[in-house]
Amino acid sequence: MSHVLALSGGVGGAKLAAGLAAVLPPERLTIIVNTGDDFEHLGLTICPDIDSVVYALAGLNDRVRGWGVAEESWQAMAMLRRLGEADWFNLGDRDMAMHIARSWRLRAGETLSAVTARLTRALGIGACVAPMSDARLATLIETDAGTMDFQRWFVGEQCRPVARAIRFAGAGAPPSPAFAGALARPDLGAIIVCPSNPFLSVDPILALGGVRDALASRRVPVLAVSPLIGGAAVKGPLDKLLAERGAGTGNAAIAGHYAGLIDHLVIDRQDDPDAGGLRASGLFVTVTQTLMHAPGDQARLAREILKALAIP
Ligand code: GDP
Repeated sequence: MSHVLALSGGVGGAKLAAGLAAVLPPERLTIIVNTGDDFEHLGLTICPDIDSVVYALAGLNDRVRGWGVAEESWQAMAMLRRLGEADWFNLGDRDMAMHIARSWRLRAGETLSAVTARLTRALGIGACVAPMSDARLATLIETDAGTMDFQRWFVGEQCRPVARAIRFAGAGAPPSPAFAGALARPDLGAIIVCPSNPFLSVDPILALGGVRDALASRRVPVLAVSPLIGGAAVKGPLDKLLAERGAGTGNAAIAGHYAGLIDHLVIDRQDDPDAGGLRASGLFVTVTQTLMHAPGDQARLAREILKALAIP
């Protein structure tokens, strides 16, 4: 029985990660999560993408709001505001507990991998969820108003400044032990790139030392699920970035971005007309419903992907 390695960003990736976790036994799944968006805020270490994946796998995610924890309250945030502290980044009370638990353990000397393993175990998650690296690799957005930390651009500026370039400070950092271990597993059956933002969520993972080479010289299929539905992002700045980066449009742009790294692209039914061109470029293409509204959609898509990969 082969092992599956999934690469994920935040909300979009977390949906498929949760689907894979629902259909695969935990010992057969490793989920590696982008940490390029991580930042320090009010003395706390916040890992937005890890949290999105953890909340989704633990069934704690707020499906209506689309991010954070369900049944959240905002008392601490209101008090922080009264105390005159920065309020540009919303922190719910339950979410804040996660950041506190993580931050003090990190400060006590645990690695992010160890802390993440501890927190996922505590929340009853069986699959391995690990950061892409225990070293810092930070996504920076270069704009006309200067270089911005990712969260300042994404949340503080609501992605408004044109992204002239995206840089990764700390590129070449080593993959985490779980990531390096999964890539080297003799029983690795496939690598799945979740439907995450290629520029902001997947490129940081690819910027780690040796990862691009490991994917390019793969001995297993590498499949990506397109984050586009009907030619557009479900949510977030992907459409804006595709335009600003001059990277083309539609699934041809996604395939072009991952050229040489993937051999299989899963696209949505609405984008069926893209399939012919993608296949002509040499890719395997699976066309199905990739919009995941509910946990049932997540598990269905995960099952279809494993079937397409001939992974029992
Ligand atoms: P973030 O780090 O929280 O922005 O999350 P990701 O990078 O993991 O995901 C953002 C991408 O997910 C966006 O480009 C969306 O288009 C895509 N996305 C969100 N939900 C879905 C879905 O249900 N299906 C597909 N195919 N893509 C999705």
